[in-house]
Amino acid sequence: MDILHCDLDAFFASVEQRDQPELKGKPVIIGAPPNSRGVVSTCSYEARVFGVRSAMPSSQAYRLCPQAIFLPPDMKRYREASQQVFAILAEYTPIIEALSIDEAFLDVSASHAIFGSSMEIGIQIRHRVKTELGLNISVGIGANKFLAKLATNLCKPDGIMEFTEDMVTNLLPTLPVDHLWGIGAVSTRHLNRSGIYTVQDLLEAPRQLLKTLLGSNTDFVLDLARGVDNRPVTPYEEVKSIGNELTFPQDISDQQVIEQVLLELAEKVAHRLRIAQRKCQTVTVKLRTPDFQTFSRSITSPTAIDDQRSIFDTAWMLYQHSGLEGKPLRLVGLTASRLQDGRYEQPSLFSDPGQDIDSIIYRLNEKFTQGTIKRAVLINPVGHNIDQDTVGPKPTK
Ligand SMILES: [Mg+2]
Repeated sequence: MDILHCDLDAFFASVEQRDQPELKGKPVIIGAPPNSRGVVSTCSYEARVFGVRSAMPSSQAYRLCPQAIFLPPDMKRYREASQQVFAILAEYTPIIEALSIDEAFLDVSASHAIFGSSMEIGIQIRHRVKTELGLNISVGIGANKFLAKLATNLCKPDGIMEFTEDMVTNLLPTLPVDHLWGIGAVSTRHLNRSGIYTVQDLLEAPRQLLKTLLGSNTDFVLDLARGVDNRPVTPYEEVKSIGNELTFPQDISDQQVIEQVLLELAEKVAHRLRIAQRKCQTVTVKLRTPDFQTFSRSITSPTAIDDQRSIFDTAWMLYQHSGLEGKPLRLVGLTASRLQDGRYEQPSLFSDPGQDIDSIIYRLNEKFTQGTIKRAVLINPVGHNIDQDTVGPKPTK
């Protein structure tokens, strides 16, 4: 039981309630104003009683709880509070994996000699965050990341819980399938339609059925259903990224409009990269469907890029292979990460001076008729053209 999952309760709202005591005990909603198309970022537990949730449209939150106090997010203050919390966590172990601004895994396997059992460490962390920072943090303890996070979800808010071996045997099988990592609303609907409601149902389901419902996730999910999760707690550097996103006034499915939006986002991201003198290796496209499900598609290339064209080409390719192409979307985002110093050229083993030309040719042919333009080497001496598709794979850049 060496893994702790620490998660601040209603973090943004709690910071506001701490700093403005007149908000204590009141429904507080952090996010877009109720008359906008934006969404709720966080809300206090007093607002949750009315059914308000994160990612809900603010207009809907207002209908549920008109007496709520709506506040715009003050990220600077939240980041400051987050850093103070992480500084406390770091006193107990160097192996910390931040999941977000208010959530982290800790591997405390080497900390027991100094700080006691995992439960004792969890109690200390909760006490210190409460008394030193005035915030509630819930702590789940387990033999692995999945069980620790599951414990937190079961004991929130303001709780601490150890997911024991006994619970793996007796409690886990009785839980609804959506308690398993990676089983979202859509998978849950599919599973329920096949009569699979609990973790036990899932363990007893025919493997072939699960394969069709969960695809490549099947083995991972089955492991979780047995309480097995071998992923280590992986500390990493603060994620540095540059991104822009756009929420549409109406849902958009027209691919030409999406292409235009990605072009504009690529231009903004490229501009910000150049101002920051950075190049990126990873490009991520974020797509949100009308039911508020958010999907990310990323690709990491050995060559760092900072120009609009390359960023757009990568983003467009990701969109085209997202499985959401042509589907209605309410938000599109584009993020550049794995940032490198952009002031120097980064030579790469894989760089090929010809690939830009290939890409241009490919795109022109895509736009117009195949074979509109091709390299001279592809025109054979006899005079007729070789079909470009047969001479090699299309450049994917
Ligand atoms: Mg939280």
